[in-house]
This record gives sequence, structure tokens and C-alpha cells, in this order.
Amino acid sequence: MQENYYKPIKLAENIFHIYEPGNVYTTLIIGEEKALLIDTGYGFGDLAGFVRTLTDKPLEVVLTHGHTDHCGGNSQFPMVYMNMMDVPTYLWYEATQKTLIVEKFKRDRAAAGLPDVWPEDFDQEKWSAQHTRHFEPLKNGQIFDLGGRKEEIFFMPGHTVGSIVVFDHETGLLFSGDNISDSLWIMFDTSARLSEYVEHLMDIKLLPILGIVAAHRGIIFPISIMSDLLRTISCINPETDRTFTHPRTGQKALKHREECRAVEDIKYIYVVYDKDKIE
Ligand SMILES: [Zn+2]
Repeated sequence: MQENYYKPIKLAENIFHIYEPGNVYTTLIIGEEKALLIDTGYGFGDLAGFVRTLTDKPLEVVLTHGHTDHCGGNSQFPMVYMNMMDVPTYLWYEATQKTLIVEKFKRDRAAAGLPDVWPEDFDQEKWSAQHTRHFEPLKNGQIFDLGGRKEEIFFMPGHTVGSIVVFDHETGLLFSGDNISDSLWIMFDTSARLSEYVEHLMDIKLLPILGIVAAHRGIIFPISIMSDLLRTISCINPETDRTFTHPRTGQKALKHREECRAVEDIKYIYVVYDKDKIE
């Protein structure tokens, strides 16, 4: 394993937000008896080995959704929990996007004069051929009792139809994957409709949340990020919003931005959406 490939940020006692190059985070929550890993990142490095440097407790793995930057390391674990609504998303990404992801990283890193995003011992062919060993279906409201702390799963269709969020009752932290952050991408064929997302966000807002942790940011968002998102969504206008082209797939969408009020260092909240997802 390449030294220091994964960089953990300690968010709270026994909660680590683990950064991996390529700008994605996985999160490890350690209880008295068990540990829970949220997402498996791209899986370019030895995440399972790295997790073992932080805890030796029995480990469960939960996926926030089926995109490859959250599921790429699945094969390193005997079993992963996922909302089965995201199986089509997972399979489509695995079949069509893995090669494109690798090519895009090569291109972007070379253009920026940066070293490879993966560790030196990365084997592209092996990575591309890896599959999830076993999916275990998640249930809405499922609780992972880690001993001294409980993690509750909430289904939250939005970014993808099978997206879920994880609530840590001990700290009041909500782990939101790509579903609550300063940018919401709800442009995919397998995204939910915006109205459905808003309904679920209103429900999630009722939880006693103290902070939100997203999969592409190394900070704890204040809960006002949810109001920022709702305000931005309410201002969407397909007539005036500019066209957005997905940098990897070339898919067209629309993009709207509003001022971000929740976090001083972040200027805008973005919603990238498909016109057909509005009702
Ligand atoms: Zn995603």
C-alpha cells in the first residue's frame, strides 16, 4: 500500500472522513462492538487495508448510492449493503463508465501536470474487471447498532432513485453521500424527480440533525445547507438556466446557481438538473 494514500479527517470521536485522491471521501464510524464504513470510494487503493489501521472491529459496509466513485472498492469487502433500487445505476456504471473514468483521470491529471490519481501498484485491468462480491439489500429505517451508537438508514430518492442517507444518533451527524451538499446533480436517467427529492428533504429536515457530512467535501455543513438547497431549487428556471454538459458522458442538462449562505468559503449552491425531472 502506498503510504499516506488515504487521508483521514477526524470529524468527531470515532468518526473518520477518509479522503482519497480523485476527491471523494468514505466515512468510518466506530462503535464499541462494530464499525460501519459508508461507501468504498473509487477503490484505486487498498481501502480495506487502510480501514484496518483505524479499527480492528467487525466491519459492515453501506453504500449511499450506486455510482462508481462510491462503489469502486466494493470487491475489497465480502459484502456491502445497498438500496436495491440503485442496482441498475450500479450495473450501468460498472459496464460503461469504468474505462471512461480511468481515461478522464489520465487526461485531466496530465493536463494539470499532476501525478497519477492512483497508487503506483494500481492495476487498471484488474480494477476494471472487479465486481461486487455480494449485495445485501438495505431497508428504509434499518438500524446498525454498533454498540454505544446507532446508525439509522433513510431512503432518500434524489441524486439517484436508490440514494440513502445515514443518521448517527450519537452525534446528530447526517451522512448524505451526494444527496445533500453545495451541489445537487439530479440530471441522470436514474435520478428521482425534483418534487420527490424536495418531499424527502423536508422529511429529513425534521430529524434532530446537528451537521451534514457529504461525500465530496471535507467539512461538516451546518444544517442551513438544506434551506440553501431548497431556495436554489425554488429558483430554477429552465427558460433562463444555462446548459451544462457532463464532462465524462457528454450528457446535456441545465444548471442553476444561487448564493451559498450556509458556508462562508463556498460561494454558490448549484443544482444540475434535467428539464424532464421538473414537475
Ligand atoms: Zn453520485
